[in-house]
Amino acid sequence: MILISACLLGVNCKYDGSNSLAPDIISKFEKEGIIPVCPEQLGGLGTPRIPSEILSGTGKDVLDGEVRVLNSNGEDVTTFFLKGAIETAKIAKKSNIKRAILKSNSPSCSSSLIYDGTFTSKLIDGDGVTGALLKREGIQVYSEKNYLDILLK
Ligand code: SF4
Repeated sequence: MILISACLLGVNCKYDGSNSLAPDIISKFEKEGIIPVCPEQLGGLGTPRIPSEILSGTGKDVLDGEVRVLNSNGEDVTTFFLKGAIETAKIAKKSNIKRAILKSNSPSCSSSLIYDGTFTSKLIDGDGVTGALLKREGIQVYSEKNYLDILLK
C-alpha cells in the first residue's frame, strides 16, 4: 500500500476545485493498493478554498510552532494545516504505510519545494507541513516528479 495525494489521483480537492491528475502514477501503483489523502480537506478546509502559503519558513518550522500558515487574505490557517498533517500521519500509521507520493510545491504535501509566503510564485527549498510530519514519522516521501525512484529501489 502507498499513500498518494488525492489530487494526483484526479480528485477535485485542489484549492480551486480542480485536480492534478497523474495517470502514470495510478497505473504504476494501483496493483499494490493506493490510499488517497488530501491533508487540507482532512484538516477541515473546504473546496474550493483560498490558497495558503507558509510565511517565512517551512513545514518543519510550522510543526515546531515557529512560523504560521496564512491564506492570501492574511487569515491564519495554521491549525487546519497541522490537523491535516496529524490526520494524514494517523492514516499512514494505521495502514502501516512506508512510502508516500505527495504533490510538489504544496504548503501541505510538498517534500522538496514550497512557495515562499509572498504569493508571488517564488519557490524555496522546504517541505510542506504534512510532508515534514510524514518524514519525521520515518515515511519515505516522494513527489510526482521523482516517484520513479521508488521503482528503481
Ligand atoms: S493538500 Fe495535497 S492532496 Fe490536497 S489538494 Fe493540496 S496538494 Fe493535493
